Amino acid sequence: MMVTKYIPLEAYQEYLEKIVEDGAVEVASESKLLFRCPICGDSKKSKSKRRGFLLSDGEHATMGCLKCGVRIPFYYYLKTEHSALYSDWIMNVYVFDKEYEKKEEEFAKETCYVDYSEFYPLTDKTAPTIRNSALHLINSRKIPKLIAKKLLYSYSGKFANRLIFPYYMRDGSFKYFEARDLGNNDIQKYKFPTALPQEYYNLNFVDKNRLFFIFEGLIDSFFIENSITSGGATKIGTLLSEIDKKYHKNAVLIFDGDIVGIRQAYRYFKKGYKVFVWNESMLKLSKDGKIDMNELVIKGFFDSVLDKSGRIPESKIMKYVMVPSIYNLLEFEMYYSRMGFELEEKLDAKFIHKRAIEPVKNNRNKRKSGVR
Ligand SMILES: [Zn+2]
Repeated sequence: MMVTKYIPLEAYQEYLEKIVEDGAVEVASESKLLFRCPICGDSKKSKSKRRGFLLSDGEHATMGCLKCGVRIPFYYYLKTEHSALYSDWIMNVYVFDKEYEKKEEEFAKETCYVDYSEFYPLTDKTAPTIRNSALHLINSRKIPKLIAKKLLYSYSGKFANRLIFPYYMRDGSFKYFEARDLGNNDIQKYKFPTALPQEYYNLNFVDKNRLFFIFEGLIDSFFIENSITSGGATKIGTLLSEIDKKYHKNAVLIFDGDIVGIRQAYRYFKKGYKVFVWNESMLKLSKDGKIDMNELVIKGFFDSVLDKSGRIPESKIMKYVMVPSIYNLLEFEMYYSRMGFELEEKLDAKFIHKRAIEPVKNNRNKRKSGVR
């Protein structure tokens, strides 16, 4: 069991008020704060624009900005940019948290509630506009039909205007799901039933006696039969710990083609796992240094090999999978170094840090040189 800790929104608000330039942090909902982005300085023209946000599921919080596009865990931002405040946060929020205990109960009660009667099959045409958006998303993502027909959508309540990806059990029922926004909700593209323990998509169905595939993202996993989803590059360890060691030799890890995913692939390759390797022509299709299996399919990379159901046959994907050996490890290292990837994780912090503070620096320089 993973130990998680409830942190009330007020705690984030209190600390952000010490950071943002005008000291104003607006509570937008039970899980969202808005403020002027302290990373890029936010809009210069309009001092009232608040495009920085913090999203909390009660246990984890992400800070982001719709202007500079930064996405960063709150604790990480605090740690790297405001180390004194960070120590304070650890002491007061993590260690001495008694005053928040009562609220935790309310939080659990509130988030527990999922009204499954608000989820409809795509054959239901009660809300045609939202249904059309759902069908459009399914088509544009090229989601295989056999999966698409099991998806649901919602047009009312907490998960309104979302496409629902249920994590079915063997008896056809489900509790856990992902709810993908169908509009332009940049802030919260995916919603989860936060009070339920995280499940791993398809873990109950996957045949571990033959090759099985582990993806970061849910939609990516739809394109290869016998696949599971970890829910993120860094969650792979937790997922693997749920699978009996004797099956690990059959696991093929397919991380996204971004710096975080490639480093994770390197890490697990060294541990003896089979990993997917992004080749040059695949990486050329990436946008902002990111590419995943779904993007490859959308961009037609596998068009000539897709089977009738719209999936990539196992033999075709295995062409890009490296089996661990000393020789292949050297190959892997040389290959990605040549492509300009730093495989060592210690540089990771610097990478994010640099990205996060650069815009602020530029603004300071501008002010100094008198440019307004
Ligand atoms: Zn910003």
